[in-house]
Amino acid sequence: MASLQPVRGTHDLLPEDARRHRFITDMSRFIAGRFGFEEIVTPIFEFTDVFKRTLGDTSDIVTKEMYTFEDRSGDSLTLRPEGTAGVARAFISGALSNNLPLKFFYTGPMFRHERPQKGRLRQFHQIGVELLGVATPQGDIEAIALGAEVLRGLGVLDKTQLEINTLGDKESRDAYRAVLIAYFSDFADKLSEDSRARLERNPLRILDSKDDGDKRIVAGAPSFADHLTPAAQDFFAQVKAGLSLLGISFTINPRLVRGLDYYCHTAFEFTTDALGAQGTVLAGGRYDGLIGTMGGPQTPGVGWAAGVERLAMLIPEPPAAERPVAVIPVGSLAETVALQVTHALRKAGFIADLGYSGNLSKRMKRANKLNARFAVILGDDELARKAAMLRDLDSGEQAEVPLLELRDRLAQTR
Ligand code: ATP
Ligand code: MG
Repeated sequence: MASLQPVRGTHDLLPEDARRHRFITDMSRFIAGRFGFEEIVTPIFEFTDVFKRTLGDTSDIVTKEMYTFEDRSGDSLTLRPEGTAGVARAFISGALSNNLPLKFFYTGPMFRHERPQKGRLRQFHQIGVELLGVATPQGDIEAIALGAEVLRGLGVLDKTQLEINTLGDKESRDAYRAVLIAYFSDFADKLSEDSRARLERNPLRILDSKDDGDKRIVAGAPSFADHLTPAAQDFFAQVKAGLSLLGISFTINPRLVRGLDYYCHTAFEFTTDALGAQGTVLAGGRYDGLIGTMGGPQTPGVGWAAGVERLAMLIPEPPAAERPVAVIPVGSLAETVALQVTHALRKAGFIADLGYSGNLSKRMKRANKLNARFAVILGDDELARKAAMLRDLDSGEQAEVPLLELRDRLAQTR
């Protein structure tokens, strides 16, 4: 028999967890809406090529982390490891380039075959945004500002720091890449195996290495800032000025890089020390070359994604669920009336719970367990007067209320 354990790196969202997740997705969708971002929902799997082309053959995701399988038609499909590739694919296949700029928000599960640990799962969830068709620094500023507002809305902005960097334009990057290759080549035999493999194809990625030996070498590496073209410097200056104008504080982290060719200009991360090793909660950047690389029309883009599980660990208690009204029949005659009263309350917009069985004390216990705000107790005496006993479960006070007035009386307490 198959194991009844969840697959390693996956987890069930029991109602309490699901409520946290929903708070995060609802809040971020709402805030994104204020910025004019509308939700897009793309499939959970795509042709493998969609990710290979966008993430590059040397990225960790493509080389080690993808859930790739052949389906019954012999197509190679991959469970999406991230959201941008699918959105870009949807933009191209939907021929949406006449409608630019476009602002998309998305949320949903992502899949990566990583070593599971706190804040690192094999099925996890992201919220994310993509702004397509804006080539100017306003796009970067708006994307970052939206990220900050989402974190503020979730009550976690104070627990994070914003780090930014620039990857410049192509000219800056080509110049810097050459300088980096020259520098790292001198240390080739001391670099980690991963970094050595990246030396020619993707030297920028070495800056991001987690290997301690690499880190020491990286510490002496030439700085990107010295190789930026005036245009790239100006772009970055405008992003920084815009953030300052909006009161968004940031630090510059020259080691914040992305190795792929279509990334340019701004890279940014909101990080926290509150989660141990998995400190990045929201990460993004500009990817002007991506849609072109995929075979679509050259279209600038900037966006970010945030891990819902990591946010869920950071947020204070989400707003409590609305407290129900417990309807409690006493005696079998009252059962039918209880069914009707419960139904009427639900139709009127209340959350109403009808304990299914048990005596008064058992049902009262259940009402308390549900954190009910009120109990509507239907005893024979009250029913004879077409009334119910309405008990405030916080204060313990109770009063007889005619059944016909129950709804209004409860509505007053909201
Ligand atoms: P990391 O350095 O933590 O591996 P990453 O660079 O792979 O992050 P991105 O691809 O930029 O992460 O994804 C954006 C966000 O999604 C991360 O900042 C994180 O909050 C979340 N995330 C990424 N991978 C996982 C995972 N395996 N489990 C849970 N959350 C994740
Ligand atoms: Mg990763």
